Amino acid sequence: MKNIYGYKYNDLENKLIQINEKKYRAKQIYEWLYVHKELDFNKMTNLSKTTINNLTNNFINDYIKIKKVQISEDTIKYLFELKCGNLIEAVLLQHDYGNSICVSSQVGCNIGCSFCASGKLKKIRNLESYEMVQQILLVEKETKRRISSVVIMGIGEPFDNYDNVMDFIRIINHPKGLAIGARHITVSTCGIIPKIKEFILENIQVNLALSLHAPNNELRSKLMKINEVYNIEELISTINEYIKETNRRVTIEYVMLEHVNDNKKEALELAKLLRGMNVYVNLIPYNETKVKVYKKSSMIRIRKFYNYLKKAGINVTIRKEFGSEIDAACGQLRASEVEK
Ligand code: SF4
Repeated sequence: MKNIYGYKYNDLENKLIQINEKKYRAKQIYEWLYVHKELDFNKMTNLSKTTINNLTNNFINDYIKIKKVQISEDTIKYLFELKCGNLIEAVLLQHDYGNSICVSSQVGCNIGCSFCASGKLKKIRNLESYEMVQQILLVEKETKRRISSVVIMGIGEPFDNYDNVMDFIRIINHPKGLAIGARHITVSTCGIIPKIKEFILENIQVNLALSLHAPNNELRSKLMKINEVYNIEELISTINEYIKETNRRVTIEYVMLEHVNDNKKEALELAKLLRGMNVYVNLIPYNETKVKVYKKSSMIRIRKFYNYLKKAGINVTIRKEFGSEIDAACGQLRASEVEK
């Protein structure tokens, strides 16, 4: 039996037909689950007793649990416990324009980026789509706030869990469910080329972000082992293919590590690499983890880097810093909990 939060709308319709229920029940059930946030079939008052029994016998309808919450001025960090006992996390970010959430896609991560707290804990398993959906639902339920945008940038590499992540996107995007607009959903990848190519064919308006973090192979391979499999030249050519086919702008994520990738040399190399591409670069102030391998770039250095890119005609922003006092870098809360 599968958790009901893991059903895309059409799959739910088909499943209902299979269990001798009417197809239109999918609309009622989606409304209960996602609009009223009611998970108890018995409280779905417009369903008959027979339908309620039928649902109980054919679907699992429980939640993952909130284990810990850390609150700061503009950030709330959630540690969730899955049914198997593993821990994952999500971060709610409060912007002037609404609430966004950063969700996890795997328990741990095998990509092993050297600056990342999540990568220190190896992948245990992929998250099921319902476990991703419920990170959003539980936070909305808990805070009574609507989440208007979602980034899949927490623990895990989303394209290493491609099918479940795509189901998740289709569930939260559905107009009868959470109705989060595709343009408000961003998938962030470290650059798994075959999956970027598959993503091009999805015909969906979801944003793509590429974690680049270095402008040359030598440095990128030091920071991200995955670069030894998919190098920068192949990656940039695939991103160009994506831009050409989808007509969509790509975000280039670049974490600022002092005296590692934040020098003038890297700024000029990056500008050269990205010249003429429909991208914008997001410079991310690093959240120092307890494993102090890297230092966070000073704001002066970040500004300088920003100015080199601007001068070279590259669209660039500096990401606002969120919750550095509450373990807000992806995986830090989970890592400190697992250490205990
Ligand atoms: S940065 Fe992302 S891809 Fe790299 S180890 Fe961390 S979670 Fe995995």
